[in-house]
Amino acid sequence: MAKRSSAHKPAQKTTGKAKSRAPAEVFEIFSRLRQQRPEPEGELEYRNPFTLLVAVVLSAQATDVGVNKATGPLFAVADTPEKMLALGEDRLREMIRTIGLYRTKAKNVIELARRLIADHGGKVPRDREALMKLPGVGRKTANVVLNIAFGEPTIAVDTHVFRIAHRLGLANGKTPEEVEARLNVVVPAEFRRHAHHWLILHGRYVCQARKPKCEQCVVFDLCRSPDRILPV
Ligand code: SF4
Repeated sequence: MAKRSSAHKPAQKTTGKAKSRAPAEVFEIFSRLRQQRPEPEGELEYRNPFTLLVAVVLSAQATDVGVNKATGPLFAVADTPEKMLALGEDRLREMIRTIGLYRTKAKNVIELARRLIADHGGKVPRDREALMKLPGVGRKTANVVLNIAFGEPTIAVDTHVFRIAHRLGLANGKTPEEVEARLNVVVPAEFRRHAHHWLILHGRYVCQARKPKCEQCVVFDLCRSPDRILPV
């Protein structure tokens, strides 16, 4: 039977301190994640920066698969701020009612479209502060949009990135902002553009929260997490 690498100890809190990684080890971790997924991509479907922004806003506390099911028909009729405003809040709410918090999200998306037209000529701004002033847009959403739509080397810290950063000893911050700041320091420049995708996909498919699939992990030998499951 497989066992945790420190079964007699309490599980490490993801906010606990771990010994920092040597730069060469960080390089090796990201080299292997890159080798495994040379062209990592997000799983939200979109057509342009505006639909990406809307998809990310809708994805808060929802799965990408669930969001994609709703946005396929939605973006077919409303893929610009102008068309979204013309669609209106009532019809938008109906089209996204399968997504959690859909009432608030519909309100935010309509207001967001209105503000993009009023303040940014109908374009999504390539600027974190401007993005974060839009309704429903926090730092994580702004980082995702800057990274995917504009190719900026931002690292968006979601629940997966937060967990993996701790398990792999890359960043020990207590908040997503602290983890993001630390990752921006320790992740070598050549990996920064795709770092959050590699960490998200690793967390989603391999290093899962409750039962990580350590036997499939490409950085197994470099992992010092008490959550690592040793083969028998
Ligand atoms: S060895 Fe296990 S706990 Fe460590 S990073 Fe890989 S999947 Fe996660």
